[in-house]
Amino acid sequence: MQTLITLEEVRSLRQQWTKENHKVAFVPTMGALHDGHLSLMLQARKLADVVIASIFVNPKQFGPSEDFSKYPRTLQDDTTKLNRVGVDAVFLPNAADIYPEGFQTMVTNREMANALCGLSRPGHFDGVLTVVAKLFNLVQPHISLFGKKDYQQWRLIETMVRDLGMSVEVVGCDITREPDGLAMSSRNRYLTPEQREQASAIYRALTATKSLRTQGEKAIERLLAQFKNELAKTPALQLEYAEIREKFTLRGPPFQLDKPSVLLVAAKIGATRLIDNIELD
Ligand code: AMP
Repeated sequence: MQTLITLEEVRSLRQQWTKENHKVAFVPTMGALHDGHLSLMLQARKLADVVIASIFVNPKQFGPSEDFSKYPRTLQDDTTKLNRVGVDAVFLPNAADIYPEGFQTMVTNREMANALCGLSRPGHFDGVLTVVAKLFNLVQPHISLFGKKDYQQWRLIETMVRDLGMSVEVVGCDITREPDGLAMSSRNRYLTPEQREQASAIYRALTATKSLRTQGEKAIERLLAQFKNELAKTPALQLEYAEIREKFTLRGPPFQLDKPSVLLVAAKIGATRLIDNIELD
């Protein structure tokens, strides 16, 4: 696996891949890699000839009181894992190259970002979209893979690609879960053993609501009430939001529940914020 640090190194490898006529897949990450990240790499290998991953803890997507400085950084372990799953190159940019002196241009979404996680994390998605746009420009992938774990992020990136005419295909990948259903996340390592056990209640509540939906319940209020009742059985989980939204646009009700929809949730346990979701159709 090649390790690339400078923008020049990325451009030069990209040119070589063009000459070799390779289909290029790109998976951006912030490192602290787990099996959820690796599932994206494995799927990328199936869909393209070469796979490039990036690891960059993007300062612009963290709020002033968020965990940027203590976000887990496990570079050596990460590169070993990427190598093992057959990634061809990893890009480890310096912040000064991504955000050079005088940096002043951002990508902003004016609609979908103003809901769900965007409410409690102002500016977060601007930071995400800006860094992903920059990485797309550098890497020029044919396809790029994102986890449905960050459902709103995935839909925002699809929207950016459509709105700005970027020539990359965005692929959403299924959520990888722990055996008890907790969605894998780099932040799960913040949880104490007790919190870790309590956190699995999120997925239990999500699946209970999905089965109510599968049994034919159509009223959004009743589905949400059932989800909240189920989650309330674990008082350690402080619900930030639970919403049912149209699956492609993430628009909220009123909409026909025969349209594909998704139940999205954010909850805090202690100081750790967890997100998860389940498609209801
Ligand atoms: P992050 O390092 O948190 O920025 O995540 C990098 C990519 O991995 C994003 O597209 C995430 O949605 C995806 N990802 C993170 N956790 C999971 C998971 N449990 N299952 C599937 N994809 C995931």
